[in-house]
Amino acid sequence: MAGLYGGSLTVGELLQHGDLGIGTLDSIDGELIVLDGKAYQAKGSGEKPEIVEVSPDALIPYAAVVPHQAEVIFRQRFEMTDQELEERIESYYDGENLFRSIKIHGDFKHMHVRMIPKSTSERKFAEVATHQPEYRRENVSGTIVGFWTPEIFHGVSVAGYHLHFISDDLTFGGHVMDFVIEEGIVELGAVDQLDQRFPVQDRKYLFAKFDVDEMKRDIEQSE
Ligand SMILES: [Zn+2]
Repeated sequence: MAGLYGGSLTVGELLQHGDLGIGTLDSIDGELIVLDGKAYQAKGSGEKPEIVEVSPDALIPYAAVVPHQAEVIFRQRFEMTDQELEERIESYYDGENLFRSIKIHGDFKHMHVRMIPKSTSERKFAEVATHQPEYRRENVSGTIVGFWTPEIFHGVSVAGYHLHFISDDLTFGGHVMDFVIEEGIVELGAVDQLDQRFPVQDRKYLFAKFDVDEMKRDIEQSE
């Protein structure tokens, strides 16, 4: 939120901590998608988004990954909107106080994503976030990956869903806005541990003066 977009952890090191997840890249250059132990970058500036595999030495300023272990697996057999599917997913949670990892492979009638555009640290996130390219695709097969954060951990992360999408043919993806699923397999994992890394060698982070109230307002506005 405060414009500290410099990467401080390599993708190679990140992948040692999990095989599924989300994030962004150095200079907030697009959306990071971690699927089956591989890291992909979705970026967009023109007509179509671009998906590339990320090299292990690429740096990331923010990411969340988990060794995904499905605890509940169900088949979604008929068409549903994202809101309807989220309600069904939540009906399988044991209480509402654990982070959940989510993996949904399926056929989507509609998928709507956005991409954070690469930016310099002079621009605040809330400002950058008002100009995000958005893309839509009809009838696309692929995988949604991400997390559900409990209300009690709002602040550590943002409460609710944070999902990224990548198509099977690696031509479409990004930060999920909304979708309609036709059918698919939904995997839900319960996260039993939270390990937060800090950029201990990043002078910009170490000496930054954060305006916490402003950051809270910006999170409300951007997410
Ligand atoms: Zn995202």
